[in-house]
Amino acid sequence: MASKGIYVEKVIVIALGGNALIRKGQRGTFQEQVENLIRITPEIARASRSYRIVLTHGNGPQVGNLYLQQEHTRDVPPMPLHACVAMTQSLIGYMIQTAFSKCCPELRVNVVPTRVIVDPGDLAFLNPTKPIGPYYDGAQVEDLKKKGWSLVMVPGRGWRRVVPSPKPREIVELEQIRTSVERFEVTVAVGGGGVPVVKQNGSLVGVDAVIDKDLASSVLAVSLNAESFLILTDVEGVYLDYGSEKQQLIREIRLREAQELLEKGYFPPGSMGPKVEAVIEFVRATGRKAIIGHLDKLEEIIRGVSGTIFKP
Ligand code: ADP
Ligand code: MG
Repeated sequence: MASKGIYVEKVIVIALGGNALIRKGQRGTFQEQVENLIRITPEIARASRSYRIVLTHGNGPQVGNLYLQQEHTRDVPPMPLHACVAMTQSLIGYMIQTAFSKCCPELRVNVVPTRVIVDPGDLAFLNPTKPIGPYYDGAQVEDLKKKGWSLVMVPGRGWRRVVPSPKPREIVELEQIRTSVERFEVTVAVGGGGVPVVKQNGSLVGVDAVIDKDLASSVLAVSLNAESFLILTDVEGVYLDYGSEKQQLIREIRLREAQELLEKGYFPPGSMGPKVEAVIEFVRATGRKAIIGHLDKLEEIIRGVSGTIFKP
């Protein structure tokens, strides 16, 4: 993908992982999520003195919880998945604003509801893989399939709905995001990977799918021609032989080698795979560095002393 952004000085795109909002063992109350965010907003505020910050974030647990809420009532019409994604963009954006207003009330934070175009011919639509929402027992499966849902059996837990996860192609609100980046210290955009839409007879229509937030963040970082792209998660960086006794943190890696490891299947789909794919896309398109690192180490990551650095 060619980079096509106008260069706004010093833009950093930071993709926040799920643990920015809900940590292990938490249920995800409003208070918990805001408090978790407050652990990182002061560091982001510090970075905003030197850079224009664009924050993106996931929404897996939040969109799952919304679904559960819908399942528990017949009194209000259930919203389709793409509308639920839109709801979580606003909810999480608001929690981020609340967290910033606690630590640094003077900072101007702008949330941009974002749609992302996907290709209706994307093979992901034929093969739904992304699990969302609650677990169901076998007795419910027939009824759920009548809704047109695909379900998979997760051993020990039950049945779960899976939805397509098509590739992000284009960010509809790119101009709004650019304007926001020029005018505000912090812009929140492409929440939950963006609301997936397809072009249909000249208009844009929402589809029941979920876009990977790291891949969508990469498209945004490239489109903004960002100076760097950071993915913050719950590990120090990318490991070789992850999970084994001889696991080893990669400190620096060149594009070609990263591509090779990705192709050889070193990084699992649904977790580290899309992150590595996302940073490779960014480095390839812009010729600049991207880093995958730990959420609590933003300052060190920006200084280049923590995380896995991907170089051209
Ligand atoms: P996020 O919510 O931040 O997007 P994910 O759970 O999707 O995070 O991905 C991060 C997880 O990827 C880590 O917690 C780790 O368990 C897993 N992982 C898989 N392979 C690797 C690897 N090679 N190096 C580091 N982490 C890995
Ligand atoms: Mg996660």
